[in-house]
Amino acid sequence: MRIALVSAQASPLGLGGPVAGGRHTHVAAVAKALGAMGHDVSVYVRREDGTAPASVQFSPGVSIEHVPAGPEAPLPPDEQLPLMGDFGRALAARWAEDPGAAPDVVHAHFWLSGLAALTATADVRRPVVVSYHGLASAERRALPADHNAKPGPRAGLERTLGSLADRVVAQSEDEVAELGRMGVRRAATVIVPSGVDVEVFTPTGPAADHRRPGLRRILTVGPLVARKGFGDLVEALRRVPGAELIVVGGSDPARPPRDLDADPEARRLLQLADTHGVGDRVRMVGAVTQEELAGWYRSSDVLACAPWYEPFGLTPLEAMACGVPVVAYEVGGIGESVIDNVTGVLVPPRDVNAMAGALRALLGDEVRRMSFASAAIDRVRSRYTWERAATELERVYRTVTGATESDAAEEPAEASEEDELSEVS
Ligand code: UDP
Repeated sequence: MRIALVSAQASPLGLGGPVAGGRHTHVAAVAKALGAMGHDVSVYVRREDGTAPASVQFSPGVSIEHVPAGPEAPLPPDEQLPLMGDFGRALAARWAEDPGAAPDVVHAHFWLSGLAALTATADVRRPVVVSYHGLASAERRALPADHNAKPGPRAGLERTLGSLADRVVAQSEDEVAELGRMGVRRAATVIVPSGVDVEVFTPTGPAADHRRPGLRRILTVGPLVARKGFGDLVEALRRVPGAELIVVGGSDPARPPRDLDADPEARRLLQLADTHGVGDRVRMVGAVTQEELAGWYRSSDVLACAPWYEPFGLTPLEAMACGVPVVAYEVGGIGESVIDNVTGVLVPPRDVNAMAGALRALLGDEVRRMSFASAAIDRVRSRYTWERAATELERVYRTVTGATESDAAEEPAEASEEDELSEVS
């Protein structure tokens, strides 16, 4: 099958770089797994660098295509809406010029790319599948009132996109519920959770050094943005004696400064640590590659996850794959990937006391940590590989491509396949 992955805002080539986040990991891994299954995959990203080649071979069967739309420079996603028409039209022109390159199915990642995919398929119809990777309505509810001062058109456009797409791929039951509140038809929604690279994130392998032996290590990972709740963890650390907090991750992917020292969120966190008297137990590492990150997980006693809002959350799965238990706020997909008291501990969102208590208790109980670790490894290997995600996506693609070629009589078969998909995930 010829598959177009439209990911204008997150290129797999940016993975491990200073602005990489969950979408980079997701798109890269899905593309690679689909290519390995024998599909012909093109990932369309926005051209951000005038010197980049038009097309780059990424992995067997997968190419990254740099599409010109707007300035050839990195731009925060919230400035890219006016460019998505040009991006979509550039794809349509490409596919019209070379019908051999035209895809059987278009899978867009993130709402902006979804809009581009609709433009690209407006004249020459192709089924469009959308993965949102976060919804404005859920984000707005979870974030403090002053966080998103300017609501903008995103929520409305996400609703429109959901009604026009042939399928919406959600990553959790929580996301399905949010989509339902937005008015997206349940029959158009399937659940395919993200996976984890179980060859990179392994329990054995090199581990990062302990600069301060004797301290238990709490790790937290993600871009330096307030909504990741690193500030909550710094506060919690006050009540977790004998432990250090390592923060791995780069600057805000939307607006990266040149280095970590210049990052306002990094400075705010270090100041907060000093205020709470834990400055000597907080360390910020900056962005690292996936391989280095695996070493940080392996060196840690627990992964702490305190986001105020998290559509899915890859880092708990990565930690679990490395045999590291997770203590997390029960938000979004995390409440489904982490099993409370089996692979980690879930606490109510924004409850710093509960977070501190759970960390203290788990760090003081090695037997429980070991039992969580082995359950976590089993859970990831049996349910969260990228191969499994790609196999489920392939079934979605087959359903929608079949649906455009055949008549409505096939609808019931489609519905039952979807039910099955959501049941297994
Ligand atoms: N990541 C990385 N290097 C870093 C920090 C994070 O490669 O220094 C990756 C991490 O492995 C994970 C992703 O970035 O795959 C973060 O995804 P998550 O879903 O946890 O958060 P998001 O960035 O989407 O908010």
